Amino acid sequence: MSEEAIIRLEHVCRQYRRGSETVHALKDISFSLFPGDFVAVVGPSGSGKTTLMNLMGCLDRPSGGRILVHGREVQEESEAGLTRLRRTVIGFVFQQFFLIPTLNVLENVALPSLFTGKKQRERALNLLEKVGLSQRLYHLPGQLSGGEMQRVAIARSLINGPSILLADEPTGNLDSRNAERILELFERLNEEGMTLVMVTHNADLVKQCKAVVRIEDGAMVQA
Ligand code: ADP
Ligand code: MG
Repeated sequence: MSEEAIIRLEHVCRQYRRGSETVHALKDISFSLFPGDFVAVVGPSGSGKTTLMNLMGCLDRPSGGRILVHGREVQEESEAGLTRLRRTVIGFVFQQFFLIPTLNVLENVALPSLFTGKKQRERALNLLEKVGLSQRLYHLPGQLSGGEMQRVAIARSLINGPSILLADEPTGNLDSRNAERILELFERLNEEGMTLVMVTHNADLVKQCKAVVRIEDGAMVQA
């Protein structure tokens, strides 16, 4: 028996209305992500990469085709069902770190947790150790470097134990040294079994991923 895909896209399209114009942001995309995958999504600006990540992450719904997350069809889920999927199955990391400036590092990481109290704190402490920030627990985001802020965001994305981590240009705001550090962290997470999808423009980072999905003008092309 073949292994179950975490996320499966079947002939997925996404159109946007822009005034009287229809933008075909994604056209007939089909592929599956399996446990342990580490995929780079590449392509020119405006080609549909973020649209694809938002669909895989259940932040958005397709205009056509089907998306299955752990075998469940996204289109058939209620808003509450989608929110639950998003919160339990998917971790998100963005180019902008979206940390809450008035909360310290530990609080930022513990915040999205489904658990409360001691367990939540312990989990946040473990994740912060994993991303190498045990020395920064009580710092505010404004007191951190960009690379450190992104590592806080990564720890936060893992607090609910997602099956998959989706990262949309996670190193876009970082220098090459810090970008390399984020990639090392992703590689380590992947070795431990995490499934990862990362949009990146950085050719050095792409080389280190296990597979590449190339998007051009809304369509998947041979990488
Ligand atoms: P990428 O991440 O590869 O730069 P996007 O997925 O952000 O590309 O965008 C793909 C296309 O869809 C672009 O032409 C963009 O202008 C358009 N687009 C994205 N989001 C919207 C939106 N909310 N409304 C209208 N057009 C959009
Ligand atoms: Mg984008």
